[in-house]
Amino acid sequence: MILRTLMMAAAAAVGLAAAAPATAADVKLYALDCGTFAVPDADMFADDGAYKGRKVEMVVPCYLVRHPKGDLVWDTGVPESQEKLLGQLKALGLTPKDVEYVSVSHSHFDHIGNAGQFTGSAWIVDPDEKAYAFRPQARTNAAQFARYSALENAKTIEVAGEGPHDVFGDGSVQVIPAPGHTPGHTVLLVRLPKAGPVLLTGDLWHVAESRAAKRVPRFNVDRALTLKSYDKVEALAAKEKARVVRQHVPEDFTSLPKFPEPLT
Ligand SMILES: [Zn+2]
Repeated sequence: MILRTLMMAAAAAVGLAAAAPATAADVKLYALDCGTFAVPDADMFADDGAYKGRKVEMVVPCYLVRHPKGDLVWDTGVPESQEKLLGQLKALGLTPKDVEYVSVSHSHFDHIGNAGQFTGSAWIVDPDEKAYAFRPQARTNAAQFARYSALENAKTIEVAGEGPHDVFGDGSVQVIPAPGHTPGHTVLLVRLPKAGPVLLTGDLWHVAESRAAKRVPRFNVDRALTLKSYDKVEALAAKEKARVVRQHVPEDFTSLPKFPEPLT
């Protein structure tokens, strides 16, 4: 009888745990200043000619996600921002070797510019992007290549298929393929306990109005795939009711808490 009661109590406890709403993990999102650049003619960012002759100011952020199970750096800025990036990590008591995971939306120089600092972290990457980053042509730009070449032999976690890759196993932080800008471009979903879901969208949209207008940069590797990724990310944003961050758009960056304050 006692055994049976214990078993029922155990079953009830298990049932209760399964039925209880998942407690949101104590996740924090820090927006780090990793530089700015001025684009004298933004024509390259729309293949319909909409930005011809337009001067655009862009921000280059890096992000730090702090989760009870570890830290993730998302995008590592332009090479020139190394001191800025490391300085902001240091202000939080971190060095690159304390960071468990690194991931970049894609391998362009303004996103992977300091990734070589994180060779002790596990690199979360879409296999198509890894192949793209280490293709023969990428190796010919020696100065840029040197900034991340050490990742080639770093511990690597590949994002499988259409994803998502669940970084900490609880759904709170997910790397999601959204290819087209580059072959393995990804976005990051961060579900915060108070602020709710946030989507860091890499270079899906460089200019604020590109999102609504569905404009495609001239230098994207695949136009059709880009449009498919727009639909995928918009559907996800709608389903999650997520805050969408266009990473190069100044207003999206400045509306986030100013470092060292995190979004929680
Ligand atoms: Zn970019």
